Amino acid sequence: MFYNNTAFFPHSRENKFLYIGHLGGIMGDTPSYAGLCKHCGKCERICPQHIPIQKQLEEVSAVMEGRGMVVKRFAMKAVMGGAMWVLGMGGRVNRAVVGRKK
Ligand code: SF4
Repeated sequence: MFYNNTAFFPHSRENKFLYIGHLGGIMGDTPSYAGLCKHCGKCERICPQHIPIQKQLEEVSAVMEGRGMVVKRFAMKAVMGGAMWVLGMGGRVNRAVVGRKK
């Protein structure tokens, strides 16, 4: 979906951000980005449409991940973790100041 969206919005960074966030395992899912393909060929052997899946995953990886996917995932995880920590702290402070029951 994110890769397809880049065909319509080639200059949008949002698609790549969401791709890394979702398929990179940042937002709680198991990492499943295209660059993880091990080129075992199992999927192509059973594909009834004979789609060159490995080649297409390489293309998706090149477009959506580029170089340094590991670093990108690490950076996004750090930023997201920091944001969640701040939001969590905000919630605790808010509860302590505003939400305290009398
Ligand atoms: S070749 Fe197909 S089955 Fe093998 S790792 Fe890549 S996507 Fe998965």
